[in-house]
Amino acid sequence: MVRRRKTSAVIPARRLSQAAWLVLVAVIGVQFALWALPQTAGRAPDAARPPGVEGFLPISALMSLRLWLAGEGVHPVHPAGLAILVGVLAMSALVAKSFCSHICPVGTASEALGRLGVRLLGRTWAPPRWLDLPLRSLKYVLLALFLWVTWVALDLPGVRTFLDSPYNRVADAKMLLFFAHPSHLTVAVLGVLAVGSVLVRDLWCRYLCPYGALLGVVGRLAPFKVTRDAATCTDCGKCTKVCPARLRVHAMTRVASVECTSCQDCVAACPVKGCLAVRPPRVEPGRWRLRPALVVVLVVAVYLAAVTAFRLDGHWRGAVGRAEYARRLPEIDSPLYTHAGGLAAADPSPRPAPPAASHGAR
Ligand code: SF4
Ligand code: SF4
Ligand code: SF4
Repeated sequence: MVRRRKTSAVIPARRLSQAAWLVLVAVIGVQFALWALPQTAGRAPDAARPPGVEGFLPISALMSLRLWLAGEGVHPVHPAGLAILVGVLAMSALVAKSFCSHICPVGTASEALGRLGVRLLGRTWAPPRWLDLPLRSLKYVLLALFLWVTWVALDLPGVRTFLDSPYNRVADAKMLLFFAHPSHLTVAVLGVLAVGSVLVRDLWCRYLCPYGALLGVVGRLAPFKVTRDAATCTDCGKCTKVCPARLRVHAMTRVASVECTSCQDCVAACPVKGCLAVRPPRVEPGRWRLRPALVVVLVVAVYLAAVTAFRLDGHWRGAVGRAEYARRLPEIDSPLYTHAGGLAAADPSPRPAPPAASHGAR
């Protein structure tokens, strides 16, 4: 006899995680603006610099990852960026692409816009397969470009030069200014993406995000994936209907697609207890499964554990000190701080030694 399941706690648990990270990112953004903007005007900062902002420097983090994997240790400029990237990769490598559906604030905003589209229009538009497939390949083209720049075009000394460059040392403030004083083109692109995400679910994530493409590839290796028990499945199709990645879950035994974000919306929709669940490979469906809400706790714990390990090892606050920022930020619009300068120029300024114990406001 088929056992009906109780209402799943997974959706509230996941939404709670998403909301908490969204609030945290907003707080970091405001704090960082209070730190950076006064200094670009030559004034003292109104807040301490939050290292978590380095999570928004993926190129710098990828280059640091390359040095770290080559055995060169953690580069002292923006170490929090590397810590966050390792946390993101770890959780996505354990439970496929789970960063996207549990933590990423852009993914949370994208989901909200998609829900708005359904509320306003009754449904979002799904491009036909002949268009969907080539559009989905765009994010892999962008990923290949990023990997080529960070892992192929530069040798290890080149990577070090970039990480030490004036551009990279203030890349966080450059990013803030990009959004604080957007060009007409930036406003137009962001507007198109926001409106487009109301009309087409997960427009950015599904078609354009290279970070998500990387996590999808890493997630292919993940031992924990959504698995369907064909013996108890009633073929009702509810899982397929709710899947935001448009996967035919009801026809799969194990969801191994690079598009699956382990959101577990399908698990929550399945009326048969234990039929759909996140499981390791080669485990008999009836014998073992990770409870849906526990998956949420697990992936967030893995991320926090990775970041905490870096922090405890002294790799959180970077080597760019308060005095250096105070000197560089007022001149941040000069050619010294262009991206090309970052790849080509040697830093003419003396580099302060990394702090012995890196605590206190910068
Ligand atoms: S695809 Fe990119 S933007 Fe979307 S949730 Fe994943 S990492 Fe975030
Ligand atoms: S298959 Fe399930 S877990 Fe994966 S994206 Fe679709 S609904 Fe989410
Ligand atoms: S929701 Fe999907 S997995 Fe669950 S019973 Fe229906 S078809 Fe089977």
